[in-house]
Amino acid sequence: MSLRFQAISNLRSIPDEKQDVPVGKITAIFQENVFTLKTARQYLSDEAYKSLVASIRGAKKVDRTVAGQIANGIKAWAETKGVTHFTHWFQPLTGTTAEKHDSFFTIKSDGTPIEEFDGGALIQQEPDASSFPSGGLRATFEARGYTAWDPSSPAFIIEIGHGKTLCIPTIFVSYTGESLDYKAPLLKALEALNKAAVDVCNYFDKNVTKVTATLGWEQEYFVIDESLANARPDLIQCERTVFGAAPAKGQQLEDHYFGSIPERVYAFMRDFEVECYKLGIPLKTRHNEVAPAQFEAAPIFEEVSVAVDHNALLMDIMDRVARRHKLRVLLHEKPFAGINGSGKHNNWSMATDTGVNLLSPGKTPKTNLMFLTFFVNTIKAVHDYADLLRSSIASAGNDHRLGANEAPPAIISVFVGQYLANVLNEIESRVSAKFDEQDEAILKLDIHRSIPELLLDNTDRNRTSPFAFTGNKFEFRAVGSSANCANAMTVLNTIVAETLKVFKKDVDGLIEKGEKKEIAIMHIIQKYIVDSKKVLFEGDGYSEEWHKEAERRGLPNLRTTPLALDAMITPKAKKLFESNAVYSHAELEARHEIELEKYIKKVQIEARIMGDLALNHIIPSAIKYQNDLIQNINGLKAAGLPESAYKSQLQILTKISEHIQQVHEKVDALVEARKIANNIESTRTKAIAYCTQVKEAFFDDIRYHVDKLEHLVDDEHWTLPKYREMLFLR
Ligand code: ADP
Ligand code: MG
Repeated sequence: MSLRFQAISNLRSIPDEKQDVPVGKITAIFQENVFTLKTARQYLSDEAYKSLVASIRGAKKVDRTVAGQIANGIKAWAETKGVTHFTHWFQPLTGTTAEKHDSFFTIKSDGTPIEEFDGGALIQQEPDASSFPSGGLRATFEARGYTAWDPSSPAFIIEIGHGKTLCIPTIFVSYTGESLDYKAPLLKALEALNKAAVDVCNYFDKNVTKVTATLGWEQEYFVIDESLANARPDLIQCERTVFGAAPAKGQQLEDHYFGSIPERVYAFMRDFEVECYKLGIPLKTRHNEVAPAQFEAAPIFEEVSVAVDHNALLMDIMDRVARRHKLRVLLHEKPFAGINGSGKHNNWSMATDTGVNLLSPGKTPKTNLMFLTFFVNTIKAVHDYADLLRSSIASAGNDHRLGANEAPPAIISVFVGQYLANVLNEIESRVSAKFDEQDEAILKLDIHRSIPELLLDNTDRNRTSPFAFTGNKFEFRAVGSSANCANAMTVLNTIVAETLKVFKKDVDGLIEKGEKKEIAIMHIIQKYIVDSKKVLFEGDGYSEEWHKEAERRGLPNLRTTPLALDAMITPKAKKLFESNAVYSHAELEARHEIELEKYIKKVQIEARIMGDLALNHIIPSAIKYQNDLIQNINGLKAAGLPESAYKSQLQILTKISEHIQQVHEKVDALVEARKIANNIESTRTKAIAYCTQVKEAFFDDIRYHVDKLEHLVDDEHWTLPKYREMLFLR
C-alpha cells in the first residue's frame, strides 16, 4: 500500500488527543516562563536590578561585574523551574531561530563539579556558526561571529518534553561588529525612529522623551495531517506542493472563513496557545481563514522588538506542538496552487512615553495636527521608498502571492479610506501658498469622531491594499507568512525616521523665516501630500486597471524577488541606511547577496523536487495505469470485440502517453537549464536565471501536464495525496 493510502487509513485511527491543557485563567500562566522585571526584582540586588532596568531603557550598558550578578539571578530563577541548560537565542538570516545549548554544569580546576552561569556567558558567546549565511562578511572581516546579550528582550524558558532550556535573547554579529542577524539592524532602526519621532513630537509636547514603534502581527498558516504531509516529498522539503490538481471543492463556498474550528486543530491551538502564554506571547484571536485548512493567530500588539521575538518564537512553537498532535503547520506563502496563500499582516504604529498613539486621530486641533504630521510623514516615507519596502518582503515564497489575485499586488500603494483622502485633498487645496490663520479652521476638522464609522464601510475593499490605514495604525499586509517581521520593520521604521528628520528640517527652515510653528507644520504637510499623492490608492488593488494606472503614475511593480532586491543596494538605500546608522554599505551588500542566495536555493530545491517527483512518482503511476489499459484493450481484442469497444481506452492511453512524454522532455530540459544557471558567476544574474530560465520557463508547464495526469490516472495508482485529501480530511 502506498504511503498515501496508509495515511488516509491512519486518519481514522488517530485517537482524540485528550489534552491536559490547564483550564483556567490565562493570567494564571501568562509569562510564567519569562524573566520579567517583576521576577527580576525578586532575584536581583538593588544594584543589579537598576542596572538591568537602565539597560532596557537603552540608557546604559550593563558592566561586567553587574552582569555576573544578573546572570546569577537569572540562573537562580531558572533552577527553580528545573532548568539545566542555557542557550543564546538568536535570529540568523536563514529565517529560522537558532540556539546552541550549554549546560550550567562545569568542573572547577580542583575537580569540583558545580552548576554555574557567569556574567561572561550571559553577555557573549561564540556559537559554532560558520554555516550561517554571512554574505561573505565573516570571510572579509574575520572568521568568527558571536552572539551578544540583548537586555531589551527578556530571558525565557523553553520547555521541550521534560527538557527545559533557559534562552537568552541575543543579537548575532561578526567579530568586527557587522550584523549577521535580523535583530541587530532592527534595534538600530527603532532607535533611529525614536530619535526622529521624539524631535517632531516636541513641536507638540515637550514632555515626550521616548517614542516606541508598536507591532501587532497577524499570522496565517495551514494545518494538515502529518501522515498525509509525509507522503508528499514536496511539502516535506519545500513546504509547498509543486504539483496537485485543484479539488472539486475549493474555497468557492467560502464556508471555512469564520466557520467552526475542526476539533483536532482546536486541540492543537489550545496546546500551542498555552505554551505561548507561558512565554508571554499575548495571543488574542484565533480563527479560520478563507482557504480550507487555513487559520490565523494574532496577539495584542507590543513594542516592535518584543513582537518580532514573539512571532519568531510562535513559529517555532507551532511547528513543534503540531507534531505532538500528528499535524503539520505550513508557514509557506503558497503551499497550494489555486488556493489562497498565507500572509503576515504587520499592524504598525508609534506610541509616546506619555501614552499617546501617534497614529490615532486627535480630539483637539493640536492633537489633530500631531496625528496628521505622523500620518502624512508615513505616507511620504512609503511613497519615497516604495521600492525598498517592496524589497523588504521579497522572497521566493512571497512571489507566488504578491500579484496573484488574492493578496496585495507587488505595487506598493497606501489606502487611507475615503474620509481621510478627503481631508488630505482639502488640505492640499485649502492650504494654498498663502495659508493664513483663518485657514486654521482646517485643523478643527473632526477627524477623530468621523473616522471609525467611515472605516467600517471600507474594510472590505481595503483588503486589497498592501499598506492600509486602519483607524489608528497602518497595516503592512504584503509581508509573507514565513518571513521574520524584522526585515519589513527595519525598513519601515528607518524610512519613517528619515522622513521625520527631513520634516523637522523643513519645518525649522520655515520657522526661521518667521512663520508661526503650526502654520509652518501645515505648509510642510501640504507639500508632502502633494509630493506623495501618487502612492495613494483607494480602489481595488487586484484589478487589471490598477496595474495600468500604477504604471501611468510611475509606481514600481517588481513582480519577482531577484529584481525587487535591487532596491537594497541603490545609492539612495545606502545613503538612507548609513545616515540612520542601521546598515553600513558592506552590510547591505552582504544582505543583498544572502537574499539572492536564499532565493536561488529555494528555486533550486523546488526544481529538484519536481524532477524527482515526476520521475519517481508521476510517470511510474501513469505507466502502471497505461499497462492496465493495454491489458484491457488486448483482452477486449482477443474476445473479438470491435475497435469501438475500446475506443475510449485508446484515447486515454494516447493522452497519457502524450503527457508522459511532455513531462519527461520538460524535466530533462529543466535539468539542463539548472546546469546552465549553476555555472553563472554573478549571484544576481544567477538568481534571475533561476527565476526566468528555470522557474518561469518550466514550473507551470510541467505542472500542467502532471495535473492532467492526476485527472486521467486511476486513483488507486496515484501515490501522492491529493488536494482534497490534504485540505479536507482531518
Ligand atoms: P482587525 O484588523 O481585525 O480589525 P484590530 O484592529 O483589533 O483587528 O487589530 C489587528 C491587529 O492590530 C492586532 O494584532 C492588534 O494587536 C494590532 N494593533 C492594534 N492597535 C495597534 C497599534 N497601535 N500598533 C500596532 N498594532 C496594533
Ligand atoms: Mg487585520
